[in-house]
Amino acid sequence: MNKPETLIIQSDQPKKWQELLSDLITDPKDLLNYLQLDEAQQPASLMAQTQFPMKVPMPFAAKMRKADWADPLLRQVWPASEEEIVDSRYVTDPLAEADSNPVSGLLHKYQGRVLLTAAPHCAVHCRYCFRRHFDYEENAPSRILWQRCFDYISADNSIEEVILSGGDPLALADKQLGWLLDELESIHHITTIRIHTRLPIVIPQRITNELTEILSLRKVKLVMVIHCNHAQELCTDSRHALNTLSSNGVILMNQSVVLKDVNDNADCLVELSRKLFSVNVLPYYLHLPDEVAGTAHFDVSKNKALDLIAQMQTQLPGYLVPKLVKEEPGQPSKTRIG
Ligand SMILES: *Cc1c(COP(=O)(O)O)cnc(C)c1O
Ligand code: SF4
Repeated sequence: MNKPETLIIQSDQPKKWQELLSDLITDPKDLLNYLQLDEAQQPASLMAQTQFPMKVPMPFAAKMRKADWADPLLRQVWPASEEEIVDSRYVTDPLAEADSNPVSGLLHKYQGRVLLTAAPHCAVHCRYCFRRHFDYEENAPSRILWQRCFDYISADNSIEEVILSGGDPLALADKQLGWLLDELESIHHITTIRIHTRLPIVIPQRITNELTEILSLRKVKLVMVIHCNHAQELCTDSRHALNTLSSNGVILMNQSVVLKDVNDNADCLVELSRKLFSVNVLPYYLHLPDEVAGTAHFDVSKNKALDLIAQMQTQLPGYLVPKLVKEEPGQPSKTRIG
């Protein structure tokens, strides 16, 4: 097997996050070479690749076990042939988000909270993502469009919280993120800014001193909801990044998606909660997968998920058991299961 020299971080100088974000692994062959796997065994699906191209940051690939198709991290990013399975229950906009998009880049579905699609892309493409068919480019505001979002938020003082979400807000440059936080903070009825991000997991190098400074010492409460599905994702670098954030006053929570053959067993979820808590992250939501086209092979039934939660409850304090939820179109909040 030929060695993918270019994928191995060779220099003594650690790579900057910007480089890690631009040097993503996008060719399935490169990932398999790095992991010492043979593509003939599980070829990547061309259809899946066309619809939602593979994107894997090197620090995330580095956490995968070598020569193991069953690795839970690999499964989250591999454009598998199962994505070609057609199931009429699985649609491209399962959450009917198009209906709550009053201004480009802004979703207002729930009372008191708006969600901004803050960046045009994510650092990683998670195969189960419910936004895999979402047009980020279309919804990535320029400064002029941002102004429309600010105007919308300013005009409605029932909005207390702004959520910056996928595309990943931490993919923005510090200057742009700082500007955005300053603008939002200047709207007097905003008390909380929440950042939904997978970067502390997939490129922990993103949590620099400069970023920490931008996030800390805010008038508003700064909440960060990370997205970690498996304890194996919490490497030393990620743990360090999370400790830095929490010691600088950022409130940390985690959301996961329960995924078949990734984390659909109680031991795995218990270990995840414990390991998160050891770096000051509280579990928030455990999502049932959305019925989005191309993701049927990740499905975990409601009953199975309820059983997992029941098992977690027997082993953990209540605050380490996430809330099992599902997102349903037209509902005033996420739906609690059980
Ligand atoms: C999930 C979500 C929120 C946040 O809901 P919480 O229950 O507060 O976490 C807000 N807006 C949209 C559009 C969402 O999808
Ligand atoms: S980081 Fe979040 S929004 Fe981006 S692909 Fe993964 S699940 Fe989807």
